[in-house]
Amino acid sequence: RMFNELQELKGNIRVYCRIRPFLPGHGEKHTTVEYIGEHGELAVVNPSKQGKDRRRNFKFNKVFGPDSTQAEVYSDTQPLIRSVLDGYSVCIFAYGQTGSGKTYTMTGPNGASEEDWGVNYRALNDLFSISQNRRDSLIYEIQVQMVEIYNEQVRDLLLSDGSQKKLGIISTVQPNGLAVPDASMHPVTSTSDVLELIDVGLKNRAVGATAMNERSSRSHSVVSIHVRGKDLHSGAALHGNLHLVDLAGSERVDRSEATGDRLREAQHINKSLSALGDVIFALAQKNSHVPYRNSKLTQLLQSSLGGQAKTLMFVQLNPDVSSYSETISTLKFAERVS
Ligand code: ADP
Ligand code: MG
Repeated sequence: RMFNELQELKGNIRVYCRIRPFLPGHGEKHTTVEYIGEHGELAVVNPSKQGKDRRRNFKFNKVFGPDSTQAEVYSDTQPLIRSVLDGYSVCIFAYGQTGSGKTYTMTGPNGASEEDWGVNYRALNDLFSISQNRRDSLIYEIQVQMVEIYNEQVRDLLLSDGSQKKLGIISTVQPNGLAVPDASMHPVTSTSDVLELIDVGLKNRAVGATAMNERSSRSHSVVSIHVRGKDLHSGAALHGNLHLVDLAGSERVDRSEATGDRLREAQHINKSLSALGDVIFALAQKNSHVPYRNSKLTQLLQSSLGGQAKTLMFVQLNPDVSSYSETISTLKFAERVS
């Protein structure tokens, strides 16, 4: 199907699949990925099965194989960034099990050189350069918030004292797109301003992780970029938002093993990811009722999911056979929303 046709069918939702490469130094590995087509086709195989159950086929707007570069993965995303500056809301997610490359796609590897920059940095660069190019006709003010959602609690990641202030969400869409009005707002004028803030946010996120290591895989982080534009000739104002979301790992936690805090975390993650799936599914079906209220994540993102908003989801896969069952559950999630 053509993207235009798909948009008509599904609203403004695009789903890309990205398969990460095997990492060096991990021995010989076997992949579940059998076929990647040029038009978003993907076939995965279950090595322990024979016959017709062995192979399953999926379809995305696009599939990026293990050799895809960061630049290739981003290459079709610039129009979305342009529409933020035209006054739209845009949401870009990475979904997948822990270790599947969500952070790599959104942010890039630690200490990335420009070539390895993830979607966040590329999007911000475009945001600032396009806004600069328009400066004869439009003046933009750009502000950033960054929050974490952990166990259905929202907290500010950009307080300079690193304090863990809990925040409330306004669950109806605000004209200015601000769902978390009490999260600190930081004016920015360049990509490096935002990068510094994201660094602070990631450090604050790590501080919260001392009690439980790897908390980042069990919380959602949301960078929200708020754009206000003023037309210099007509005086008309516009508001656009860009939400960049690194979701918690989607892996199933074995109920027989998890207890206490770990079980509660798992239940919260499960609840919010299925709420996200339900919202996108309802939007794709053009249902009149969209269940935004069922999680903090969907409440926070309400203004950038549905309506005129545009959504891009990266579905991340680990190709290893040992991840086969998580791969299938990730692909089933994606199948439902795409
Ligand atoms: P997640 O955020 O989903 O838990 P990460 O982004 O941390 O996963 O990726 C897990 C590991 O795989 C990291 O070491 C990361 O650098 C590496 N990795 C992920 N995607 C790629 C890629 N496309 N190319 C090279 N290395 C990758
Ligand atoms: Mg990560």
